[in-house]
Amino acid sequence: MSPSSPASPFPSIAERVAEVRARIEAACRAAGRDPAGVTLAAVSKTQPPEAIDAILATGQRVFGENRVQEAQGRWADRLADLPGLELRLIGPLQTNKAEDAVALFNVIETLDREKLARALALAAQKRDRSPRVLIQINTGAEPQKAGVLPQAADALIAAARETYGLTVDGLMCIPPADQPPEPHFALLRDMAERNGLSVLSMGMSGDYEAAIRCGATHVRVGTALFGERNRP
Ligand SMILES: *Cc1c(COP(=O)(O)O)cnc(C)c1O
Repeated sequence: MSPSSPASPFPSIAERVAEVRARIEAACRAAGRDPAGVTLAAVSKTQPPEAIDAILATGQRVFGENRVQEAQGRWADRLADLPGLELRLIGPLQTNKAEDAVALFNVIETLDREKLARALALAAQKRDRSPRVLIQINTGAEPQKAGVLPQAADALIAAARETYGLTVDGLMCIPPADQPPEPHFALLRDMAERNGLSVLSMGMSGDYEAAIRCGATHVRVGTALFGERNRP
């Protein structure tokens, strides 16, 4: 990547966005896919207002956030001026935050248990607003990680749709950090196909091109767009 000016050795956010978009397009072409079939969700967690201003100026309108309250702070005041904004919750959701999540997000990617499906259905009724949902699958069966286990996924998908009346768009996963991601991406794709689901949210800064080869429709990219996050 080229520096933004002789004074700065670091690429600007606009340059990073252009590079990621170009790489997404190249990965689509290499895989024989239409680039229009892949949505870039910019993961804006922890980012300061200046960074948000900079990425909005590039036309980016789809964002991923992993905490409800933090997202409210970042986006509530901007919503009125950004009619095309799409906010996607990509972090774990507690049932007592379901109503706030339903009020703010367009898509909740992390439905992983029946209790949460019930809370979302009640919240949707109360707020008269129905975000679309993805089911998060713990493809690596990691004990510390959120997501429903693969063997319980079909039942949760059916319950979310039929018992709770939620609009299930697709599936999401975060593969184990210490394994090649492709088998996890392939598992997610097969599971979606089997359940008639079209959205696959998979791939982050380190592996979004691999995810596109495996069929991702949504990639969630933070670091490659904004640079390293400040640790809280
Ligand atoms: C933070 C986060 C990302 C983005 O990770 P990067 O490696 O910074 O691109 C993607 N998905 C989820 C669920 C995250 O929490």
